[in-house]
Amino acid sequence: MWKILIPKKIAYGEDAAKEFDYPENALIITTTESKIYEKWIDYMGIKNYHIYDKVTPDPAIETIETIKNEFDGKNVSCYIGLGGGSSLDVCKYLSKMTGVPKILIPTTFGTGAEMTTYAVISFDHKKKLLQDEAFLADAAVIDPYFLPGTPFNIMRNSACDAAAQASEGFDSKLANPLTKLFCKEAFDILEDAIINDKPDLLPYGAMLSGIGFGNSSTTLGHALSYVFSNEGVPHGYSLSSCTTVAHKFNNSIYYDRFKKICQKLKFEPLKLNQHLDAAADVIMPDRGHLDNNPIEVKKQDVIKCLDEIVNSNPLA
Ligand SMILES: [Zn+2]
Repeated sequence: MWKILIPKKIAYGEDAAKEFDYPENALIITTTESKIYEKWIDYMGIKNYHIYDKVTPDPAIETIETIKNEFDGKNVSCYIGLGGGSSLDVCKYLSKMTGVPKILIPTTFGTGAEMTTYAVISFDHKKKLLQDEAFLADAAVIDPYFLPGTPFNIMRNSACDAAAQASEGFDSKLANPLTKLFCKEAFDILEDAIINDKPDLLPYGAMLSGIGFGNSSTTLGHALSYVFSNEGVPHGYSLSSCTTVAHKFNNSIYYDRFKKICQKLKFEPLKLNQHLDAAADVIMPDRGHLDNNPIEVKKQDVIKCLDEIVNSNPLA
């Protein structure tokens, strides 16, 4: 048996966020500043709303408790997560706590968070990847309107993440015919968007990637990437070399095509301060990613992959 979870309602394409029917008395949760989100809300035509705009990257459980207390008794009809992954993750967790429904609207496109049952929340300054069916959006709205104005670096990292997720998800042991269909289509669209300079296609590609990998998993590429993230390298950037080397190790049908995407996005090689052996010890317990890799991964394999990432340029 296979099971696929997707939001109850998905609205996507040009003007999707403008034409969507928002309930009154919603609480908008965002990471951006007022001069930007006021323009967005105006475009979306939302009336009589509350706003919480103090969400920061890597949101902590304390932020979520603060929002819960601040809006307790205000009869909030729904949460609207408007922004990058952090605002969406806060909405997901809050909605699970209170039972209030949520509409998720990404403004940077790549994680596909609006489609998945995953949320990353920090507890005691440690990021934790959580999964819960209650995190699934009641509605997801994907509109390329939010794309212009995204800094090139954020756009490039997000595009790389989406392509890595789609291709790792395709190869995952948890993949099934339907998730493969989504991952394959997602990769085709993302590749076209990046190689042929059609950024307007990125939101749709990222959305399909979210459905595909969100119902299977990412694999070795993501497992390798976290030791670089721990040293401050942005997620999408660390995947450029990590997923390329992982695809080579797995003999993935996506190896060449993924590498070409990273070359087009002009990613620099990665550096690691930590000793490779110590880094491999951090990676090996990540069974969630490694157990779903199509090929068994031993510690020696991880060290070999890391060596290739930092000592030769896998994107050359
Ligand atoms: Zn990712």
